[in-house]
Amino acid sequence: MTTILSCRVCAAPVTRNFCDLGESPLANAYLPATAEAIGAEPRFPLHAYVCDRCLLVQVGAFAPPEQIFGEYAYFSSFSSSWLEHARTYVESIVPRLGLGVSSLVVEVASNDGYLLQYFLERGVPVLGVEPAANVAAVATEKGVRTEARFFGVEAARELRDRYGAADLLVANNVIAHVPDLHDFIDGMRFMLADDGTATIEFPHLLRLVEGGLFDTIYHEHFSYFSLHTLERALSMHELAVVDLEELETHGGSLRLFVRHAGSAPGPSAHVEAFRAREVERRLLETRTYDAFQGVAERKRGDVRDWLAQLRAEGKRIACYGAPAKGNTLLNFCGLGVHDIPYTVDKSPYKQRHVLPGSHIPIEAPEHLRDDRPDVVWILPWNLRDEIAREIAYVREWGAQLAVAMPELRGA
Ligand SMILES: [Zn+2]
Repeated sequence: MTTILSCRVCAAPVTRNFCDLGESPLANAYLPATAEAIGAEPRFPLHAYVCDRCLLVQVGAFAPPEQIFGEYAYFSSFSSSWLEHARTYVESIVPRLGLGVSSLVVEVASNDGYLLQYFLERGVPVLGVEPAANVAAVATEKGVRTEARFFGVEAARELRDRYGAADLLVANNVIAHVPDLHDFIDGMRFMLADDGTATIEFPHLLRLVEGGLFDTIYHEHFSYFSLHTLERALSMHELAVVDLEELETHGGSLRLFVRHAGSAPGPSAHVEAFRAREVERRLLETRTYDAFQGVAERKRGDVRDWLAQLRAEGKRIACYGAPAKGNTLLNFCGLGVHDIPYTVDKSPYKQRHVLPGSHIPIEAPEHLRDDRPDVVWILPWNLRDEIAREIAYVREWGAQLAVAMPELRGA
């Protein structure tokens, strides 16, 4: 693939390597366990670059968003810690913004209503915008008003006409997945009331770089933001960051509080401090990005050595979970059913399928009890404590728990 990317923020040609992970299928494209489906699986280069001009880390878009999100298999409500995160957010934001019965909260990529349900409990009207029709239908069944569509300028104009402007506009873990960033951000500007606040959560690039988290790179994740790059993109649409919070979700995220630049107060001390931290940690220097490929390759070596050692000891291994990040990791390491006979996952939407690329079968969690493996490798390492509690029963037969990221270790 020799197509030169045009930077999603500043439109400069992007050619500087950040991390080349080889060819890989879409990380959320779980396959039916049939030879036909497996034989027809498409692969695309998974290669992240960094823009020399604005420093946005990004991958090229190889698949249309309809293909990626049309029947998206991820249901937020399957993670109890994620629900707790949502509930805590609602508890703090409602009084902070003085939201009530005459307010409107709009969430972009509202999934199955995992977040908006907590606003409804408090009597605050909501509107979800969710591109995956099957996921939007689940939200509607729960009583969460949801429009099944992609968000951008056109959607924002129509939705604002129909429902009014948003006093709070929520964009959690969506902005990285947006192929046309400027259309999306301009849509936010349209949707946001004059005195409204938008909150944007995204995995922070500093944590990706410093943690060597190459497994959080996948095709569906087009952009990897620092505060520096996202502030730049927002300012191009007259939106300003007024405050921020650091979160532990997804291995380290930022939550930005954003308002129309014309009516926004100056940035808080948190924002100023964080800008300084990105400079101090060399996130604004290209050589920081140049070192990343070597880190990913070293970690791949660690995983392969570990599996070879387990094999030599005659130990049997299984995985837990089927997250997108696990697929990036397994595929970059070149692993398959000969290395890992199966994984287990709570989501019935993933069971009886195989993982993309590695074609490792996905079983129900109960399968662990029947099979009694010696080692359970937890792929969603960001949820390792929650999962370790859930499957504490594996200790009954002496199984060990492990994670491979950020570093290979027991869980
Ligand atoms: Zn750029």
